[in-house]
Amino acid sequence: MNLARTRRKIYFRFLVLLAVLSAIAAAGSDAALGHPSALALSVRAHMNVLAGPGMRGRGSATPDEHAAAVYITGQLKNYGIEPAASGGGYVEQIPVERYTVTGPPVLSFQVAQRQNRWTHGNEFSVWRLGAAHLSGPLLKIDATATAGKVAPGSVVYLDSAANPWSKADELIAEGASLVMLNRASAGGQISKDLPRIPNRLPDKSIGGLDASGTKLILADESSQIISSLADGTIITLDTPARVAKGFTWNAVGKLTGSDPAMREDALVLSAHLDHLGVARNGGAIYYGADDDASGVSAVLEMARSLSSGPRPKRTVVFAFFGSEEIGGLGSTWFEEHPPVRLDHVVADLEFEMLGRPDPKIPSGTLWLSGYERTNLGATLDEHGGHLVPDPHVGENFFQRSDNYVLAKKGVIAQTISSFGLHKDYHRPTDDLAHIDFTHLDEAIGSLIAPITWLANSDFKPTWNSGERP
Ligand SMILES: [Zn+2]
Repeated sequence: MNLARTRRKIYFRFLVLLAVLSAIAAAGSDAALGHPSALALSVRAHMNVLAGPGMRGRGSATPDEHAAAVYITGQLKNYGIEPAASGGGYVEQIPVERYTVTGPPVLSFQVAQRQNRWTHGNEFSVWRLGAAHLSGPLLKIDATATAGKVAPGSVVYLDSAANPWSKADELIAEGASLVMLNRASAGGQISKDLPRIPNRLPDKSIGGLDASGTKLILADESSQIISSLADGTIITLDTPARVAKGFTWNAVGKLTGSDPAMREDALVLSAHLDHLGVARNGGAIYYGADDDASGVSAVLEMARSLSSGPRPKRTVVFAFFGSEEIGGLGSTWFEEHPPVRLDHVVADLEFEMLGRPDPKIPSGTLWLSGYERTNLGATLDEHGGHLVPDPHVGENFFQRSDNYVLAKKGVIAQTISSFGLHKDYHRPTDDLAHIDFTHLDEAIGSLIAPITWLANSDFKPTWNSGERP
C-alpha cells in the first residue's frame, strides 16, 4: 500500500464521517417531527458526499467521477452487495476518446479531374457530426422515391421530403453514413459554429445517446451542384480535430438471486454518477444534486434495502454509469460488457432527478418515461407504486437518458423521475440547497415495495404492440 493510497483512504473516511455528521445535523431539524428515519439519514449522507464540494461536480471522465465511483463502492461493500464489474471488483475503468474540433469541416468530391473543396459555414453547414472522417458514394433520393434499401456507408442527398429531418434519421437507420439536405426544404441557417464530434469508447463505438449519424444542410447553389452529380461520386467529409485519451468509470454490483429457478432473470437498477464538473474557467461547480446524485442515492438505498431483508429470488444488478453527460459512454460499455446476459434482463429501471417534485403530476407520484410503451409501470402500480406517465410530451425523455441505450437493444428499460423542467437543470444552482429532502425520501421510500415485489416475482414485463424502439 503506498502513501498516496493511504492518504486517499483517510481522506475518504474523513469525507464519509463528515457526511454522516452533517446528515445528523441536517436531519436534526426534522427531529421535532420525530426521529429521522434510517432512510432519511442515509440519503442525506449520500447526497452530502456526492453533491458536496469535495466531489467538484463529478465531471464526466475526470478523477472526480472516479471519486464518486469509489464512494459508491464503499456503500455497496457495506451492504454486502457482490462485485460485478466486467474486469472484477466494483469499478470498471473504461478508456474513452474525447474530441475537440479545431477547424471547420471540409466536404470534397471530384468532378472531371477537378477536386472541389467546400467549407463548413460557406457552401454547407454540418448540423450533426458522427465522426471526424466520413466518405462514401453519393446516392440521390427525391421526394417521390419510395423507401428503398440504402447501401451501408452511402452519402445520401435528399432533395426534398415532407419531413426532411425525420426522413434523414430513417436513412441513417438504414445505413447512410451522411445525409445532405437542401436548405430550401430543411430550413435552417448556414452556420459557421463548429460542430461537436461525439466521444467514443476505444472500440470506436459512439455512446448510445450520441449515435444519430451525420447530417448537413447545403446552401441553395450547392444543392444544385450536388443534384447534378452522378450517383456513385465519392463524397468525403473531413473535420480537423484533436483527440484526448482518458478514462471514465462505472460502479457495478449485484445480489445473486436466491431461487435457483429464477436467478437467471435479472433486474437492473441504474443511475448515472457523473455530472458537469467545474466550469472551464475554473469558476463554478456544477454540483448535480438533482442530476443525478438523487438517482444514485435511490439506487444505493434500493441496494441497502434489498440486501438487508431476505435475499431476492431474482438477481438484482446495481449499475452506476460514468459519462452519461458526454453521450452515454458508461452505459454503452455496460451494454457491451454486461454482468448478466442482456436477454436475461427482465427490466432496467433508471433513476434520474428525483430531488424535487414535478408540479405537473399529482403530489406523491413519480413519472415513468415510456409508461405507455410497456406494461411495467401499470403492474408496479398494482403493487404499491405511485408511477404515472411522463407529462412532458415533446421532451423525448425516453430517448434522453441511459435507459435508451438498453432499450435500443430490446431490453425493457425506462426512467423513473420527478424532473419538472426546473430552471436549475445543468446549472451550478442544481445544488443541495435546492433539494426537497422530504420529497426525495418519500420518492425513494415509495419505490421500495414495488421493486422488492418485482425482484421476487416471476412477472416479465413486455412491450406494448408497436412500442418497442
Ligand atoms: Zn444531466
